[in-house]
Amino acid sequence: MEFEQYHDAGGAIVIPDRTTLVDFVEANVSAARQDPAHDGLVYRYIDYSTSRDGEVHELSWTRFGERLNAIAARLQQVAKPGDRVAILAPQGLDYIVSFFAAIQAGLIAVPLFDPDEPGHHDRLHAVLGDCAPAVILTSTESAAGVRKLFRELPARERPRTVAVDAIPDELGTGWSRPDLGADDIAYLQYTSGSTRVPAGVEITHRNVVTNVMQLFDGLGLTRASRGVTWLPLFHDMGLLTVILPAMGGATITVMSPRAFVQRPGRWVTQLGAQSGCDGVFAAAPNFAFEHAARRGLPKEGETLDLSGVTSIINGSEPVTPASMRAFNEAFAPYGLEPTVIKPSYGMAEATLFVSSPRRDDEAIVIHVDRSDLNRGVITVLDPSQVEGNEDAIPQVACGYVAPSQWATIVEANIDEATGEHDGTGRELPEGRVGEIWLHGTNVGRAYWGRPEESEATFGNRLVERLEEGSKTVREFGTVPEDARWLRTGDYGAYVDGQLYITGRVKDLVIVAGRNHYPQDLENTAQSASDALRPGFVAAFSVPANQLPIDARNGADIAADDSSETLVVVAERAPGAGKADPGPVADAVRSAISARHGVTAQDVLLVPAGSIPRTSSGKIARRACKAAYVDGTLRGGYQQTAFPDLPA
Ligand code: ATP
Ligand code: MG
Repeated sequence: MEFEQYHDAGGAIVIPDRTTLVDFVEANVSAARQDPAHDGLVYRYIDYSTSRDGEVHELSWTRFGERLNAIAARLQQVAKPGDRVAILAPQGLDYIVSFFAAIQAGLIAVPLFDPDEPGHHDRLHAVLGDCAPAVILTSTESAAGVRKLFRELPARERPRTVAVDAIPDELGTGWSRPDLGADDIAYLQYTSGSTRVPAGVEITHRNVVTNVMQLFDGLGLTRASRGVTWLPLFHDMGLLTVILPAMGGATITVMSPRAFVQRPGRWVTQLGAQSGCDGVFAAAPNFAFEHAARRGLPKEGETLDLSGVTSIINGSEPVTPASMRAFNEAFAPYGLEPTVIKPSYGMAEATLFVSSPRRDDEAIVIHVDRSDLNRGVITVLDPSQVEGNEDAIPQVACGYVAPSQWATIVEANIDEATGEHDGTGRELPEGRVGEIWLHGTNVGRAYWGRPEESEATFGNRLVERLEEGSKTVREFGTVPEDARWLRTGDYGAYVDGQLYITGRVKDLVIVAGRNHYPQDLENTAQSASDALRPGFVAAFSVPANQLPIDARNGADIAADDSSETLVVVAERAPGAGKADPGPVADAVRSAISARHGVTAQDVLLVPAGSIPRTSSGKIARRACKAAYVDGTLRGGYQQTAFPDLPA
């Protein structure tokens, strides 16, 4: 076990009250300063924007330390404790250095993105308005774009923009170690915004330090493991991949999301290129596995050895057996072990990491009965009952909840008078679906500047626990009776001690009193017609009286008829740009009605790129519904967030 001195006898992670992320970074930097043998590489960035083969930029530990000191010293001159420092730089070493410098200065870092990224402006403005940074850290190259962003604000209200690459090293002597405790905020992690305007989770030093140790423990990483990542650094999963080496003293190779999306072979090549380490790790959302399998194979004559890869987290979105299978089949001939893909569950409110299979475990896929699932009961089907059974739905296990963390399945208490959730709930046994609630020192304490939403999300009480098999009792400790619990907003269940995620509470489609998981409906729609672009389908419900006129099929809908109807919006697949929508809609409608017993009121085909997605590429069903109802989706509005997959 790594970080042994931070674990008690029972294996619980215990962070002393004065310990912060700064201590870990400083310890690694000073070890490197004292002994050149420790002065290895910490970050390598491969820039593919200027050359196809990539331009390599490297940062050693001592150089990292020098840059942190210089930038942190500058920040200490212009900002005061409690101030927010937003990072608005392109993916790269300047971004990473900026993030750690803000922390090193004792300020609150806010990892955001390059204003030059197309399509993100509304979100960027919303988030900047929310956290009101005193300083923006960026690179010389992006500074003009940043200043433009604040042009309309009166001079007094504009944050100070600092180009980190222009700060001379000599400033570093002015840095003083900040007076911080474990419960001070290290950074604000904005949620992806899949279901709302992103909210900034207050991540304390204790939260992040704990969660990194949980990642080490959960995945069996060691200080000699190496990472390879292309994930956006403003996203919780991307950010943690670069915090791991800073704490563990190891090395990571970073590239941009665009570099990966354009040529996924770059990521695969780097996964195979790490030598002399104890296991290679990475993390990526589900689509990336399929994308890499399809387009990332080595060319003829190229060698690739993936036998050194130990774990690749598949998380942040529902995990499909198809993408895992595609990846395993494509890369097994190159030495990829079947235990590598780790379907994992996590979220910004928990810093990042909640659960995953252990280092030596293979991912588990079970099949469950659809109608039981839709009424909240897991009935695991025997393999002999699966073949040819249209009601058998695959569910991928997200493994075991990390040490020093508790996840339980809860039935919320609904206030009879108001119909609202009253902030309390009862624990449900294995095999029952309920909301996943979390407790642990990795769970953030609140959303920045949103007291009511914070209390409703982070301040819940479990009023009834199971007498036997309660998930509030684990080998390293029991959650106190009066503990605060995080409502995750996700439905899930335990089967044989493994956590399964069934879908988001807010996205559940409820028509005629019956529940349907949107991803289940979307899957059916997708397999009904080749004209639908796989992965770019959104199913949601719309009150009948909000349906656009042409979706009413001539029916006379009363103005007060707010009964929910099912709508499916799908992007056109490559090559299906001109396909006649009528027969496609008919095929989708009849597949959905046969399999799910519900009628799709409208099946709308839209051009590729129309369905709203988050800056990390997730489908945003609620935004899609809003765009559908207000008509903008029909207007051919193009979403430009996140680099799109090539057609
Ligand atoms: P917002 O909270 O702003 O609507 P978000 O929930 O997508 O956006 P994140 O915190 O980045 O923001 O993502 C966490 C969510 O992603 C989880 O709550 C869950 O819904 C989904 N998720 C993460 N991992 C998995 C997984 N393995 N399977 C299914 N869903 C997952
Ligand atoms: Mg969320």
